[in-house]
Amino acid sequence: MSSSSNPTSAAYKHAIKELGLKSNIASTLEMPDRELTVEVPFRRDNGEMDSVIGFRVQHNNTRGPFKGGIRYHQHVDIEEVRSLATLMTWKTSLLDIPYGGGKGGIGVDPSKYSKTELERMSRNFFRAIDPIIGVNIDIPAPDVNTNAQVMSWFMDEYSQTHGYTPAIVTGKPLELGGSEGREAATGRGTAVITRETADKWGVDLKNSKVVIQGFGNVGSYAAKFLHEYGCKIIGVSDVTGGLYDPDGLDVPSLFEHNSQNRTIDGFNQGKKISNDELLALECDFMIPAALGSAINKSNVDSLNCKVIIEAANGPVTGDAANKLWDRKIGIIPDILTNAGGVTVSYFEWVQNLQQFKWTEDDVNEKLETKMVQAFNEVFELREKNNVPMRIASFMVAIDRVHKAYALRQG
Ligand code: GLU
Repeated sequence: MSSSSNPTSAAYKHAIKELGLKSNIASTLEMPDRELTVEVPFRRDNGEMDSVIGFRVQHNNTRGPFKGGIRYHQHVDIEEVRSLATLMTWKTSLLDIPYGGGKGGIGVDPSKYSKTELERMSRNFFRAIDPIIGVNIDIPAPDVNTNAQVMSWFMDEYSQTHGYTPAIVTGKPLELGGSEGREAATGRGTAVITRETADKWGVDLKNSKVVIQGFGNVGSYAAKFLHEYGCKIIGVSDVTGGLYDPDGLDVPSLFEHNSQNRTIDGFNQGKKISNDELLALECDFMIPAALGSAINKSNVDSLNCKVIIEAANGPVTGDAANKLWDRKIGIIPDILTNAGGVTVSYFEWVQNLQQFKWTEDDVNEKLETKMVQAFNEVFELREKNNVPMRIASFMVAIDRVHKAYALRQG
């Protein structure tokens, strides 16, 4: 990704300047601590051997163990994993949870493999990264195309050699030490941040118009909670295309349909529209909850919303962000919006370490407190320094890591 299209590196530079940090500190904090590339051989169901390439990047552990998900996607490469690992450092710092940042991935399209093939691939990948992970070293979690089942295989594989160790990964099923509220956490956090944004931007949340691009774990739960707040979800999409209803979609039925079919396709309400038409819908909140760079040079001019709420990681490119700033369209950045996932991952890890279990209400209340606290901190800095929310978020995050770094090195 070039620096003009990479929103993280542009925001990083801007935040460093605002904070007045020296360039040697800036490059130390930007550089990943460690990068591991592994070959992952595994047996296909037909008995033949196959192999894929996997990565784990450990960006920074100044404030705690490396933390971040593992994604399975054909576009995964070392650069993408590096940039996502860096985002995790700023995300955990912004939320003030005691972690650093890391990320992993396998460059593979998981839909091309059977469940048993994915299991063998996942177990072998986890064995390959075993030398650099640990409950106080690096704790993986789900990301794009990985889920509680994949985490179960990881946890089992690790426990075979190290003894029963649920805290080695988060995002596990409840039966294996997962936390109440973890599955819905990223979507719930996104809804909380949208609510807080509506308040500051003077939008009446009830009856506000929301469009959500992507209806996976994050998008579907965000839709559910925003609908419960009274928002009108007028458009949603997934890989099969979009659905539009100006009066608001029936979200509970759509959520149910999607849970059963793993797609919104075939839902019996709303007009079918393309992804481009979806992005151009007039609305208060546009929530990209799919993959990176969804809003870019080619489609940014068609956007017709008040604020973009970045539920995916890196959904708005750097040059698109500049254009949106000129048009006074707000962007609430990914490291704030989607931090609910890693925050409840932290709660899960704490429960595992203490062999204790909190109720769903406990978890949701703690999540809410953390998200609102981070939002307010960022918003105050935005007002004080007259900078976009993304820059203010990076400033809070970098400042916290830098202070810890200075104390440890000084
Ligand atoms: N993959 C999620 C993220 O990008 C969650 C990471 C975690 O829970 O460690 O924030």
